[in-house]
Amino acid sequence: MKCDPTLYRAAPPSLAVKPRLIRQLFLPPLIILLMIGLGYIGFWTSEYYGIRALSENGERQLELHARTVESEISKYTYLPSLLELESSVSRLLADPNPEHRQKVNDYLEGLNRRSRSRAIYVMDTTGRVLATSNWRDVDSYLGEDLSFRAYFQNAVRGQPGRFYGIGSTNGEPGYYLAHGLEEHGKIIGVAVVKVRLEALEERWQRARLEAFVSDENGIIILSSDPARRLKALRPLSEDTKERLARSLQYYWATLNELQPLAREQLNEGTEKLTFPANSEVVADDKEVSYLAQTRPLSDTPWNFTLLTPLKDLRQAAVNQGILVAVAFALVAFLLIAWNERRKVIATRLAAREALQEANNQLERRIAERTTDLRASNERLKAQIRERRQAEETLRRAQDELVQAGKLAAIGQMSTSIAHELNQPLAALRTLSGNTVRFLERGALDTASANLKTINELIDRMGRITASLRSFARRGDDQGEASLGKAVDAAFQVLGSRLDSLPITLHRDFASVQLLIDQTRLEQILVNLIGNALDAMQAQPAPQLWLEGKTVDGKYRLRVRDNGHGIDPEARKHLFEPFFTTKPGELGLGLGLTLSASLAAATGGNLAVEHPTGGGTAFVLSLPLASPHQAESK
Ligand code: ADP
Repeated sequence: MKCDPTLYRAAPPSLAVKPRLIRQLFLPPLIILLMIGLGYIGFWTSEYYGIRALSENGERQLELHARTVESEISKYTYLPSLLELESSVSRLLADPNPEHRQKVNDYLEGLNRRSRSRAIYVMDTTGRVLATSNWRDVDSYLGEDLSFRAYFQNAVRGQPGRFYGIGSTNGEPGYYLAHGLEEHGKIIGVAVVKVRLEALEERWQRARLEAFVSDENGIIILSSDPARRLKALRPLSEDTKERLARSLQYYWATLNELQPLAREQLNEGTEKLTFPANSEVVADDKEVSYLAQTRPLSDTPWNFTLLTPLKDLRQAAVNQGILVAVAFALVAFLLIAWNERRKVIATRLAAREALQEANNQLERRIAERTTDLRASNERLKAQIRERRQAEETLRRAQDELVQAGKLAAIGQMSTSIAHELNQPLAALRTLSGNTVRFLERGALDTASANLKTINELIDRMGRITASLRSFARRGDDQGEASLGKAVDAAFQVLGSRLDSLPITLHRDFASVQLLIDQTRLEQILVNLIGNALDAMQAQPAPQLWLEGKTVDGKYRLRVRDNGHGIDPEARKHLFEPFFTTKPGELGLGLGLTLSASLAAATGGNLAVEHPTGGGTAFVLSLPLASPHQAESK
């Protein structure tokens, strides 16, 4: 089945190819851009919420550890004020003699041991150390002038002296808590407790906690990472640096600024810090980021800062970003695949629709053609019916014509029949009259001879009437005929005319059985022989040949005469009805037409030949009743 190609709904090339090309060119970079964008958003969101969660958790940690630091510091705050209650201390301050000093030294030594502080010492109002717990040590403070220390200057003014610094004697860092010792509302001296806070640092390190404590100057005084210790959190002005150097608070430390690679303030007390990698913490990375949460420590101007590493969080955020990007790529791929599949299905559907449409059209056309064919079939059937009717009419007309031909022949023959019958009748009248007389005379032999002649005459008359009757009878197409009998019957009918002509007859045929009604064959032969006789009327030596032979299962009888022949003009019209050259009532022009028609009705035919030697020959071909008979003829 062929489909009309125009039925497929193909988009015009200008419309179909261009967007496809654009899509193919721009889709991959777009997808990659979106992957990167969404991956970054995924990373950012994950980091943001991760930091928020870390920050919430860090708040609690910060609180916990800040309180630990606070309690570590505050547990010594009461200690210097305790010395106010000690009478030996007051005595020493009032009278600093060796005995009093030794007494206080011993007392302070014992107190220091019990309180696990680093050192406890008492200064007079000038800042000189009068007694100290470490009086036995070589680097004892005894006799040292520490009036330059800020904690002394505060305490001597009646303010609490809080101070973190590095010892000017032995360079050991410590937390100094000073208290102005009062007597009668007057400050008579200063008591100082030096505490070491390194235990905190060790605790942090053991707990793998990253934290530091910065003092009022922004200097890191305690740090889990020793590298950060004594680093400035913020830039120090030259004046501050000079002041700090002069106070020897940090001994001779350079107080470099702790410079993070990146610093991002997230909210109050929380910032993101990125430091160069510390080999101790991370070996692989070049830098390390922390969430730094800071909280002031109560009773001190210090701040406690907790550092939470963001490495894991960052790794998780990176993973999250990659996951989002990959998920997007997967979704994009699925969408593209789905879209392609959808297009393929749509194309298939369109093709199927087009095919269906083409099919429908084809079926419509077939139905139209079938209708046309049916109509033309009906017309053909009607024509066949009409033809059959026409054939029937023609056959009937033919029969009528045969009958008419017979009647015409009877009319033609009636004169000669009358003549034929009148002669025997006249002879009969004469013979019967004579016979009566011969009987009266007793001439019985003669009478008997006459009666015999009369019988013969009657027989002849009977034959004449019989042939006339048989000629006039309407025959049918069936039956068999003997050629010999038919020729004899024809000569019988034409007897009188034959008698009037000195004709030489050549009989050269077999008496075969032919598939034709006997009477009809006789009619044909009467016509043919009759015409020959007519043509030979003027011939002084008339000759008639009747020659027969078998050709292709048919018997061909050739009836030839040496008459006047047929002129070329007349030859064209020989078999046309009512064509005759005979004058007056002698010719009807039906003989050949009827003969040809009768021969054709049995499956045979009648043809004419014009022999070069003159005369005419009619060839009658008729089917043999049994094909094997008379093979030789
Ligand atoms: P009809 O004998 O009544 O004229 P036919 O059909 O038998 O009608 O013959 C038609 C014509 O054919 C005749 O008039 C005659 O001119 C011509 N014809 C037929 N047979 C012969 C023949 N044997 N020789 C010459 N002419 C013939």
